[in-house]
Amino acid sequence: MKADIVTIFPDFFRGPLDYGITRRAQEMGLAKIEVHDLRQFTHDRHRTVDDRPFGGGEGMVLKPEPIFECLEPLQLASRDQRRNGAAGESVILLSAQGGRFNQKIAAELANLDRLVLICGRYEGVDERVSDFLADLELSIGDYVLSGGELGAAVILEAVTRLLPGAVGNEASTRQESFTAHNAAGKVADRREVTKNDGPDSTCGSGGLLDYPHYTRPAEFRGMSVPEVLIKGNHQQIRRWRREQALKKTLRNRPDLLESARLSDEDKRLFEHMK
Ligand code: SAM
Repeated sequence: MKADIVTIFPDFFRGPLDYGITRRAQEMGLAKIEVHDLRQFTHDRHRTVDDRPFGGGEGMVLKPEPIFECLEPLQLASRDQRRNGAAGESVILLSAQGGRFNQKIAAELANLDRLVLICGRYEGVDERVSDFLADLELSIGDYVLSGGELGAAVILEAVTRLLPGAVGNEASTRQESFTAHNAAGKVADRREVTKNDGPDSTCGSGGLLDYPHYTRPAEFRGMSVPEVLIKGNHQQIRRWRREQALKKTLRNRPDLLESARLSDEDKRLFEHMK
């Protein structure tokens, strides 16, 4: 996958994308990430990227010209081809007003060949970028940040780890929080999970939160690892993990339970919990 980030702070990305799996994916040639300095696409002495809003109001707005000019040399497919999925490309505008980014969108983006992430600043970006250039607007949560850079890093981190080969043990990306997988073993929307796609032997999350993890030492300052994990009975471990995942989801994210397809065993465990 090729990813292009458009920003007025290119140095921001020295660091966030240079560690762990994102770095490994780049070294392995699975991901190529290029950062474009928006100021290089300006034509005045001050390299101006922003201007006052028409109609008055607070703050400054990122101008459209440098953003359009920055994307032109990238030779992307037409917006229509991108939007109907034919191109394997997507231009994303980071915006607090965008649709909320989640694991399902991460999995969809991981199937593309190319992503362009446009980072806003100031009061935001001239709306013509959203109307005529970007394919979608994405928000990383219901709060307002000062710029889209953190959002772009978050999206790239979540997407990169789903690229085949990026994570050593691919099964681990299937059994994480929010992730459900369909009959073909592909990461799927949790609504796609059928009755037969319940927790597997490693206790796939099936769209719930992940189960709790423990490592050595088994005893630490009087805090013990749950006995069931030490005894080594795999069936009991699997049941316990599923029960804990259900409990945690009920406690922290009950909204996920509404759309999760629970197996009959899950429902029994759930009843047992009440
Ligand atoms: N005036 C805008 C509003 O109220 O929606 C907020 C603009 S914000 C200060 C500047 C830039 O930060 C945005 O253009 C966007 O690129 C980025 N940004 C802020 N919050 C974000 C979020 N939750 N998710 C993604 N990007 C965000």
